[in-house]
Amino acid sequence: MKRDITVTRTAMPSLEEYIDKIRILWDSRWLTNMGVYHRELEEALKAYLGVPWLSLMVNGHMSLELTVQAMDFPQGSEVITTPFTFISTTHAIIRNKLTPVFCDIKLEDYTIDEEKIEDLITEKTVAILPVHVYGNVCNTKKIAEIADKYNLKVIYDAAHAFGEKVDGVGIGNFGDASVFSFHATKVFHTIEGGAVSFSDPKLYQKLYDLKNFEIHSEEIIAQVGANAKMNEFSAAMGLCNLPYIEENIKERKRRVFYYKEKLSHIEGIILPGYHQKNMKYSYGYFPVLFQPQLLGEGMRDIVYEKLRDIHIQARKYFYPITSDAPCFRNKYRKVSLENARYVGENILALPLYPELEFEKMDEIIYLIEHICSKRENGMG
Ligand SMILES: *Cc1c(COP(=O)(O)O)cnc(C)c1O
Repeated sequence: MKRDITVTRTAMPSLEEYIDKIRILWDSRWLTNMGVYHRELEEALKAYLGVPWLSLMVNGHMSLELTVQAMDFPQGSEVITTPFTFISTTHAIIRNKLTPVFCDIKLEDYTIDEEKIEDLITEKTVAILPVHVYGNVCNTKKIAEIADKYNLKVIYDAAHAFGEKVDGVGIGNFGDASVFSFHATKVFHTIEGGAVSFSDPKLYQKLYDLKNFEIHSEEIIAQVGANAKMNEFSAAMGLCNLPYIEENIKERKRRVFYYKEKLSHIEGIILPGYHQKNMKYSYGYFPVLFQPQLLGEGMRDIVYEKLRDIHIQARKYFYPITSDAPCFRNKYRKVSLENARYVGENILALPLYPELEFEKMDEIIYLIEHICSKRENGMG
């Protein structure tokens, strides 16, 4: 059967390499609980990401949830965050019994609008939780200034920005902590997995205890903990994948620039910039914004459907925005989220992964070109 083209496709090491890696687990019978591969991957990722401290976790979501928990905020405190993200970011705040305060995003790069943060601060605000969405880096300098002025913590959701560097500095060095996801759909994966990077050494033990039931010794349970340990099979997968990461990013980059070159002449669509200064990107996503002013309402959905008709699955990342999810709608402080809603309604992430065939990309490009030009000429 012919395989559908999906928005992403999991990168795999060779089966032989993975089998070699996991063979010793049959002898050791040490399959989880911070085994050898757990330790080895933590060190390897610290080096690759250029961060002083890192804690591996079972997935990106628990990394977020436990990082927020580790900050010991009083119940009901407010966390300023972006609604233009994967639902996990918002869940992590609410599951910690904190209140999300949504802040609008910028149209240039879809990250939180740092100019709008200060107006949202109240005496209950304890933290800012921004997202480097699609690998676009937030204005970390301005956010740090605000955090200093009001004594707030900053936790970055860096799930989209694995391996990125700003002026040579690893993306995981900003704020009090940064969270990564190693889910199978991400640029780097451990099947399921995640990590937190940070600079305060005290956080290492805190996260270690939180991810291991807060069992400090056989008989001492200090407080409420969770189970969020990465197992050895996942860590082994990470160790097999890491040596190929630069090659994978290079292949992604070739495809990003191919799309950009071939789509740039089409009026009414906005392509991802990938041109912030002094950046090393990991090219995780190719989001295209279909401007309703020029192409008519609903063009994003038309393109999505037409691609689906030819077995190509693009994704409406992120629609609806998290503040509009049925479970959260109208529950939190009302703030104008005009930009976030506009982008959510008009953006489409196109397929992008290292092995994506250029002929398939041509089909996608042709289809977008065809539909958009029909609309522009008033024929559609
Ligand atoms: C993938 C992702 C997460 C959650 O990570 P998991 O590993 O799937 O739990 C959180 N935030 C963002 C922005 C993500 O893309």
